[in-house]
Amino acid sequence: MNDNAIPTVTLNNGVEIPQLGFGVFQVPDDETTAAVASALDAGYRSIDTAAIYGNETGVGRALADSALSRAHLFITTKVWNADQGYDSTLRAFDASLAKLGLDYVDLYLIHWPTPARDLYLDTWRALEHLTEQGRIRAAGVSNFQPAHLQRLLDSSGLVPAVNQIELHPALQQSELRAFHAEHGIATEAWSPLAKGGILTDSAITAIADRTGKSAAQVVLRWHLQLGNIVIPKSVTPSRIRDNLNVFDFQLTDEDMATIATLDQDLRTGPHPDTLN
Ligand code: NDP
Repeated sequence: MNDNAIPTVTLNNGVEIPQLGFGVFQVPDDETTAAVASALDAGYRSIDTAAIYGNETGVGRALADSALSRAHLFITTKVWNADQGYDSTLRAFDASLAKLGLDYVDLYLIHWPTPARDLYLDTWRALEHLTEQGRIRAAGVSNFQPAHLQRLLDSSGLVPAVNQIELHPALQQSELRAFHAEHGIATEAWSPLAKGGILTDSAITAIADRTGKSAAQVVLRWHLQLGNIVIPKSVTPSRIRDNLNVFDFQLTDEDMATIATLDQDLRTGPHPDTLN
């Protein structure tokens, strides 16, 4: 173990995912290579992209330029809404792999349930097929509500390894986290910093002042102590490093209780029931 060692979460199929990874939403493709290289340099090993981000090529360039072996990396991408359905998902997966320059991904997610389109069961069958082929090490979903998850569980023997959902102190998602715990689904938090919006909250900054850490480090530490997987995004090298430097302190039970009071059911992104 080095100082930077990032703990892992063991998924329901035995695959281990680093508990803290690096997100690249809204990073333009030509800036993504530098951001991912910076993250890999700092010690991140897990990268979260998606077809719709338009930067899988930039991620792939950083991976190709890195001296790290493939086995030490954990790469997630996602099938976009317009590509849902069995055959179109298989085609979208091939396109993502080609852009990433990889022959497998560690985690492949259905990006949104898009319930009105009602294709996620067919899409899931494609992920089952890719799992059987060994081209994805773990299959998961994103933005699934309990009802969507239940429908998937009722129709398939393959339980999603992960549900990647919007989750931060202002949107604590207790119902979903309880559902995940009951069914062996790991919780992965997107916009773990509420896109930066939670970092000026006075309760968070008071804990930051007391512990000598930054507000972002306090929020990331809160996620880790809850057991969430987190994928903060930054294009700023100093923040990229700071966001990883969260394994040398602990929040007290009182800190955790204080942050628990900040839940406001406040989304920074779309609602999964209505995004189609
Ligand atoms: P985050 O909550 O990670 O916040 C990112 C913002 O916070 C950026 O503006 C960044 O600024 C700023 N920031 C990062 N670190 C710090 C710091 N230490 N101090 C101060 N400000 C900081 O938001 P994202 O929406 O990017 O979510 C993270 C990842 O989750 C995405 O990149 C993506 O991979 C995933 N995601 C998935 C979704 C899904 O539907 N499945 C939806 C949305 C996101 P700067 O970059 O300028 O440094």
